[in-house]
Amino acid sequence: MEECIFCKIVNGEIPSNKVYEDENVLAFKDLNPQMPVHILVIPKKHIESIIDLKEDDEILVGKIFTSINKIAHDIGIANRGFRVISNCGQDAGQTVKHLHFHILAGEKMNERIV
Ligand code: AMP
Ligand code: ZN
Repeated sequence: MEECIFCKIVNGEIPSNKVYEDENVLAFKDLNPQMPVHILVIPKKHIESIIDLKEDDEILVGKIFTSINKIAHDIGIANRGFRVISNCGQDAGQTVKHLHFHILAGEKMNERIV
């Protein structure tokens, strides 16, 4: 997708603060962190959101979560814990239309949401 900022990060047109990368998945620090640790994990393939996933993407989604597991161990948040959020569509306030999972960590979180 030519105009997608996360696709531009994947192909190196826009710089990012990279945390993890493999063949299918990229993770980088959020530009406007809402927690001491705020990382975005994305598939390199352009998929708009959870609602656009196809059956063929099942393995890819599994890889994303395996990456989240690896990142959590690598950056030392596995023990204390973290939250994973994916905003999907208008009511959730999704601003970037490229599937992404926020990893939030580094301090005790409110019990609301969720
Ligand atoms: P969402 O509201 O779930 O669509 O989240 C999009 C997230 O992308 C926000 O937390 C933004 O701060 C973040 N973001 C937007 N542009 C960039 C960028 N160029 N590099 C890193 N994070 C970004
Ligand atoms: Zn994209």
